[in-house]
Order: sequence, then structure tokens, then C-alpha cells
Amino acid sequence: MEKRDRSFDEQRFSAIFHQPLVGVAHTDLSGRFLLVNPRYCEIVGRTREELLNLRMQDLTHPDDIETNLALFQRITQGGPAFIIEKRYLRPDGSTVWVNNSVSALMDAEGKPHLLMAISQDISERKRAEFQLRFLSDASRILSEWPEDAMQALQRIARLASTSVATLCLAELVQQDGSLCCVAAAHRDPSQEPLLHPLRKYASASDSPLYPVLQTGEARLDTHLDHSVMAVPLKARGRVLGILLFGTSEPGRNYTSDDLAMAQELAHRTVATLENARLFREAQEAIQLRDEFLSIASHELRTPLVSISLQLELVHRLLSPESRRQVETRFSVVRRQLGRLSSLVNDLLEVSHISAGKLELELADVDLVQLAREVIERMHVVFQQSGCEVTLHAPSEPLRGQWDAARLEQVLINLLGNATRYGQGRPIRVSIRADNDRVWLSVRDEGIGIAPQDLARIFGRFERAVSRRHYGGLGLGLYITRQIVEALGGQVRVESELGRGSLFEVFLPRTALR
Ligand code: ADP
Repeated sequence: MEKRDRSFDEQRFSAIFHQPLVGVAHTDLSGRFLLVNPRYCEIVGRTREELLNLRMQDLTHPDDIETNLALFQRITQGGPAFIIEKRYLRPDGSTVWVNNSVSALMDAEGKPHLLMAISQDISERKRAEFQLRFLSDASRILSEWPEDAMQALQRIARLASTSVATLCLAELVQQDGSLCCVAAAHRDPSQEPLLHPLRKYASASDSPLYPVLQTGEARLDTHLDHSVMAVPLKARGRVLGILLFGTSEPGRNYTSDDLAMAQELAHRTVATLENARLFREAQEAIQLRDEFLSIASHELRTPLVSISLQLELVHRLLSPESRRQVETRFSVVRRQLGRLSSLVNDLLEVSHISAGKLELELADVDLVQLAREVIERMHVVFQQSGCEVTLHAPSEPLRGQWDAARLEQVLINLLGNATRYGQGRPIRVSIRADNDRVWLSVRDEGIGIAPQDLARIFGRFERAVSRRHYGGLGLGLYITRQIVEALGGQVRVESELGRGSLFEVFLPRTALR
């Protein structure tokens, strides 16, 4: 009976031991193999006979030995069972990732005398993890270098060559249709010079990259000792370049999963390249616009000054009778000339500011006096619009170190707007101060500004009214803000649609230079 039981147990053990899905190995306390099942032999790429002459440490990847041995020693001294993810090195040089559950078998005295490892090949899962990590690291690089795609590509090539590839090249199509290598990296940097002949070869018609260039289709080529993937960088139906990954790791062939990862990286790279291109083009267009504005406003100003002078000369030459007859027309022409000059001046000012040439001439200025003068000078404008302007300011002078002409410009812009958008209702100008700062505000009861427009109206060419109803270039507030900030102050607005606006300027008494 006992004999029959033992043979039954042995059968059951044998069935478990020979099951084909997980590797099973028994070792003594020094790690020497005593028993291995066929699946274990398959995983580590050795025969049973070979293994019985080796120790677990002889197969383990050098980078994983230290962690593994520490756990191993603990368990041989009665420590807990453990699970470890580690690599085995196969005789052909390839690596296999395993998940090992290791437990001890006890002797009659309850002490460990054998160790048993249940081993599962997790190489596929690890590869997928590495692919994901590589993709996320590469994406981070792309987002960190949005304007310097070449730097990003070089970093990605280096990253690839230390993870998913042995070598990585990035080739971009030039204007003449040829390919130019912009990034190259090899796992062994001493091999990098060898990439140069490969670079020349890249656009030759017998190169593996040539069909990718022609068809825009990705390619996967597997050879005896290496595997290569070439994926196009495609945008707007055109191939902009190619990413090439090669691996010569023993036993490692690229699969369709690797190709999908490479294609995903190509998509992300193209998005960055396209953004960099759009950014560059936008910068160039802005520079072109600024240059044009600067030249145009300069050129427009000279004839305008001359026309104004000539007009006044003609006016003086007229007989008193003729002068009376044309006076109304003359004042229309003068007003329109004034408006034209102020538009041209704004354009010129903006081109100065863009070129960083806003220069301040600081002097002792009385703000109350300056406001009175500006209001006085603008009385015709207020009269025509029907707005009554009142000034609420201390009776004594309010002095500070400012640029008088620039402050005038600020006040003219704010008052001009309050008149233009003020619907003929009263405008209130207030000035107050403490020891260090002054506040200047202009309040109107006009059309007001919608909340979503409040932040942007201080930008260049930004407007929140329809061009049909109100003329203007959208530069006054931009210039105002630049001046106020150059003087070390701040400008802000509070407004409600239909209920008017309040523009406030804060200035330190001594402008920062
Ligand atoms: P412009 O008046 O030439 O359009 P600005 O830079 O002076 O340029 O003003 C930008 C925009 O801000 C104006 O187009 C207008 O929509 C709005 N805005 C400025 N001041 C006022 C105001 N007092 N009331 C209502 N809207 C204003």
C-alpha cells in the first residue's frame, strides 16, 4: 500500500515537474543545480547535463548578480522566500528576462537544505515595457527641445542606442532630395565612426532607406546577425526624413511591435519638426513685418511733415478774404493730417519698441501741470465728441523723475480712447499720490469692454471693436503699456460692456533706468 502511494506521489511530482509552461530548478545552498526540468533548460538555452555542472550565479546576468545573491544568502540562512525579476545570459550571448519565485525545502530539523526556483520567461513583457519607457523618454526630449529639433534628434538617437537599438540614425531630406544625417549614435561609441560610410550609403538607390524614401512605407529587415527598421518621417503627404534603428544584439530580432513603436516615435518627431518649422516661419514673418513697419513709417513721415509745412505756408500766403472762405476746409485738412501723423507715429513707435529702442529722457516733471496742458490741448477733440472732461488733482504740483513726452503720449492715448469710445458722456481724470507713487486714472461712461477682451487689448494690433464702426490700429494701449512699464509702473483696466471703462496707471516717483 505504502509502495503504491509513493509511486502515485512520484507520478504527480513528475507531472508538475515536466509541465511545459514554467521552468523548475532545484539547487543546493551554494546555488549548484541538482534538478532542472526541460522548460528551464529551454529558457536558459542549455542542456540538463551542462546545467548540472553549473551554479545559478554562472547563468545570471552580471548586472543582476548582486541583488540576486543578497536574497539568495538570506533564504539559505532561513530568510523568506522571494520573487526576483532578472536576466539570464544564454550561451549564444542573448539575454532572457525571467520572473523567478524562489523558496527553500527544509530538512528534518526544519533547516533549508534545498532551494527551488519556479522560472517564467517574461522577455516579451519586458520588451514592451522598455519600448514604452523609450517612447515616453523620447517624447519628453521632444517636448524639452521644441525649437531645436536637431538637438532633440541627437538625444533620441543616443537614448535609442542604449535601449531599443544598437545603432540609431536620423536622416532628413534636403532641398535637392538627398538625405542628410542629422543624428547618429551607436551603443559602443568607438563604433560611431563606422556609421559614416553608412550615412553616405543612405540615399543611394541600393540602400535599404531608398525604398522608404520613394514609397513612404516603413521597412523591417531581419538578417542572420542583425535586424533593421527604417520608418519615414511623413508630413502633409511628403517624406521629410527617415529614422533608422538597428540591433545586432544576439537573439534579438525586431518584430511588428518594435516597428509600431518606431512609427509612433516618427509621428511624434514629425509633430515637433513641424512645430519648429511653423515657429521659425512665424518668427521670420514677424521680423519681416517689423522691418516693413519700420521702413514704411519712416518713409511716410517725411512727406507728411513736408505737406503740413507747405499747407501752413499756403495758409499764410492767402489773403484774409480767401483765408476766411477756405477756413473750414483748412481745418478739416489739418485734422486729417494730424490723424495721419499720429497713426504714422504710432507705427514708428511700435517698430522702435520691437527693436528694443524705447529710450527714456528722464527729467523733473509735474504730473498735474502736464495733465492740465494735455487736456487743454485736446479741448477741440473733446468738443467734437461732446465729452466733458474734468480733472480731479491736488492743487499743489506732483513731481517725479519721468519722461515728459512719453507721459504725454500715455495721457493722449487714454484720453483719445475715452473720447472715441466714450459715447459723448463725461470723462473724469484723477491724479493722486503718496510719497513713492502716483496714480493717474481716466474713467469714461462709454461702450465698455467685454471681460474676455480685457487682457488682450494691451497687445500689439489688438482691438475689441469692429473696424467698420471705429477706426484705429490697435497700438495705443500697447504703446501705453510699454512706456508705463519702462518707467517702472503698471497699467490696468476695469470695464463692463455698456457701462464704461476705468484705466489706471501707477508710477513710481523715480522711474527705473
Ligand atoms: P485703437 O483704439 O486704435 O483700436 P488701442 O490700443 O488704443 O487701439 O485700444 C485697443 C482696443 O481696446 C480698442 O480697439 C478698443 O476695443 C479697446 N478700448 C481701448 N480703450 C477703450 C475705452 N476707453 N472704452 C472701450 N474700449 C476701449
